[in-house]
Amino acid sequence: MDFWNARVIDGTGRQPFERAAVRVEDGRIVSVESVDGSGGFVPEGAIDLEGRTLMPGLIDAHAHLSSDVFRSPGFGPAPELHGELPRRRELGYFILAKTALVLLSAGITSVRDVGAYDDEALALRDAVRLGIVPGPRILSCGRIISATAPGGAIFTTMYREADGPDEMRKAVREQLRRGADYVKLMATGARSVLVEDPEPAQMTVAELAAIVDEAHRLGVRVAAHVEGLAGARLAVRERVDTIEHGLSLHREPVLLAEMAERGIVLVPTLSTFHDLAERFTDDFPRPLVEQAKRQLDEAYKTLVAARASGVTLAMGHDSGPPGDNAIELVRMVDGGLSALEGICAATSGSATALGISGDVGTVTAGAVADLLVIDGDPLADVRMLCDPERVWMVIQGGKVVAGRDRRVSEPAPV
Ligand SMILES: [Zn+2]
Repeated sequence: MDFWNARVIDGTGRQPFERAAVRVEDGRIVSVESVDGSGGFVPEGAIDLEGRTLMPGLIDAHAHLSSDVFRSPGFGPAPELHGELPRRRELGYFILAKTALVLLSAGITSVRDVGAYDDEALALRDAVRLGIVPGPRILSCGRIISATAPGGAIFTTMYREADGPDEMRKAVREQLRRGADYVKLMATGARSVLVEDPEPAQMTVAELAAIVDEAHRLGVRVAAHVEGLAGARLAVRERVDTIEHGLSLHREPVLLAEMAERGIVLVPTLSTFHDLAERFTDDFPRPLVEQAKRQLDEAYKTLVAARASGVTLAMGHDSGPPGDNAIELVRMVDGGLSALEGICAATSGSATALGISGDVGTVTAGAVADLLVIDGDPLADVRMLCDPERVWMVIQGGKVVAGRDRRVSEPAPV
């Protein structure tokens, strides 16, 4: 399958390539060339994009695919009324399948789940891989590794609580036994837990170092939930691969310089701070809402400081409902990134965060043809990436699986 007369934003940071032909073979891009010199003929079998924008599929580097839809009003089934039979637990798996299709239809071709209840994200990942349901490529951390903490009482089976370096190593091994693609740890407490102070480190140096050492020794990456500065210092010093949230980093620019030097990716998750500070203010205790307002301000300061330091940024929505993910890209642009930088964060930057930049995140020869065609110019108005009317085609492994174009057939999972 070839794509003809596209305006390519390739995700590497280069300016758009007008009038491009993108050749795809066996699911991978083999060339990106100019159509000029073709005499105006569209080759047999090629799809004429008529100058529309072709870019890498979007990648959400921080999502919670869990069937718990409390952050996504209107996405799941209507709340049960008094007197109705309780909702069956198994409905959750249908919600997961719907989530996967909705993400794909919104142009999200890869997603990193950073914590789900039970093994839901792993199950959904396998269902997509096995071709049972259409959906994006999914990476899952299994359970989040945390020190014994109040968050464990709230997030229950999303967490694996452990204490001491040996138990941390065991917790890493357990996640790999479950089939995790990488490891996630809680370097600090969480802003959504009333009795957790997100400022101090929640693990000791030895505990965090043991997780990173064990994960890296076994060949998987480490994502660290980081809010306060003490946890940020620890995570950067012990060389995790990605920092999630990381809102305090602007207070200590030397940490950002170290992240840039070591290739540690920042996933700023601005949307989650908007949620707690503005959207779900009635659902959380007042002190948490006030704290989130301060954190929202800090998260934007860190975005600007990280950009100035040359830190690789990734798009992580960390919010709902599924399909609205690109609002995070818009917020990063509102916060100071150019539209091109925002698109890079949501494509090649996120691919780097996931450790799959050799395969996806760019429109370059050799990359998997996970692509998005937008009917318009997102560099002129990046908000159009949130508009379903603009999603012309979603292409997965070279196959058109979603979008408004008439050639879209039944979604074909890879
Ligand atoms: Zn999260």
